[in-house]
Amino acid sequence: MTEVALPRPATGVTRPAAGVMSDPGSSGRFGEYGGRYVPESLIPACAELEEAFRDAWADPRFRRDLDRLLAVHAGRPTALTPAWRLSEELGINLLLKREDLAHTGSHKINNVLGQALLAKRMGKTRLLAETGAGQHGVATATAAALLGLDATVFMGEVDIERQALNVFRMKMLGAEVIPVTSGTRTLKDSTSEALRHWVTCVDEAHYCLGSVMGPHPYPWMVRELQRVVGDEARRQCAAELSTGTPDYVVACIGGGSNAAGTFAGFADTGAQLVGVEAEGGAAVAFGQVGVLHGFRSYLLQDENGQVTEAHSIAAGLDYPGIGPEHAHLRDTGRARYVTVGDAEVIPALQRLARTEGILCALESAHAIAWVIRAAESGELPPWSTVLVTLSGRGDKDMATLMEAS
Ligand SMILES: *Cc1c(COP(=O)(O)O)cnc(C)c1O
Repeated sequence: MTEVALPRPATGVTRPAAGVMSDPGSSGRFGEYGGRYVPESLIPACAELEEAFRDAWADPRFRRDLDRLLAVHAGRPTALTPAWRLSEELGINLLLKREDLAHTGSHKINNVLGQALLAKRMGKTRLLAETGAGQHGVATATAAALLGLDATVFMGEVDIERQALNVFRMKMLGAEVIPVTSGTRTLKDSTSEALRHWVTCVDEAHYCLGSVMGPHPYPWMVRELQRVVGDEARRQCAAELSTGTPDYVVACIGGGSNAAGTFAGFADTGAQLVGVEAEGGAAVAFGQVGVLHGFRSYLLQDENGQVTEAHSIAAGLDYPGIGPEHAHLRDTGRARYVTVGDAEVIPALQRLARTEGILCALESAHAIAWVIRAAESGELPPWSTVLVTLSGRGDKDMATLMEAS
């Protein structure tokens, strides 16, 4: 009897599985990750928020109001731009989802407009937010101004010094910026402080969390509010590509919201999903499972289990954890996670700028850097179609680039 070789799936093609990136239910679990690890006093607030979001998300009127705000205020839909010259150089078909063109310069506005509208619907009068580099703080201050809410932003003292321009922006928009002096005085501490403060004012304040992290329902809610990126890109790819969907879908990862929103639009296709972490903040590559800020996921920790600080040239990727759904997508193999170091980022940013006339954010340049590396090493088959979400524009990073050159 001769042996018959069974056909094996081509490498890099993942079969879509039912239920991937669906509703995690009331447990807020993605596999063994996620959950709601908060003090007793915050459980009712999280439960109230989950119920309010479920109700709003199922209400066509809420969806219509949000879609309208995203259109008339944030400038959606954002373009899908074929990167013609860089594609030619790399021998691939590269498409860019242009969140750099959204109001306030990144995808963050999608999430905060949704949460601000929800806060109003819940009868809240104030938004609380944490911020590291200030991008989420600026977006929150923007949404609060637009909808007539107060905004209080917690920011580490060290970050306040490093990001003076964004602090001033928030103040111009009418937000109050509260310096956080505990711990390392950076994003990890401002998130803890914002959660602590929320306990004292849950009746009037909504905690507007900036990524797919925190206690349930935040990881799921923020992914749903960011899925507009992936859903739009899916439609735009269908119009642009003869194959309908791209072979690869790539996005950078801080907490993981622009990646989660993008992946959500393609989870049920054969596209390979790739999340790009900064080497100095690579929770999937170098972290262990632990609990921080109300959720269970991969976290950077020292040998004693203390959560350590992340370090990246891109301030938006300086978070020591990763959203719980990404940890699950990684364990199930539906997405893969790769790392890019600071040294690769600036050349990638420059190359995109000089071939396409787009100065993207240092965060987004991580995704571009991986695509360049993978194309040049032959990992990407010739003329494969690659969708990259450009999470933001680079204006905020010009001072960093001037120092580096
Ligand atoms: C905040 C930010 C990120 C990282 O956040 P995610 O939640 O991982 O998307 C990436 N890019 C830009 C431009 C940002 O401002």
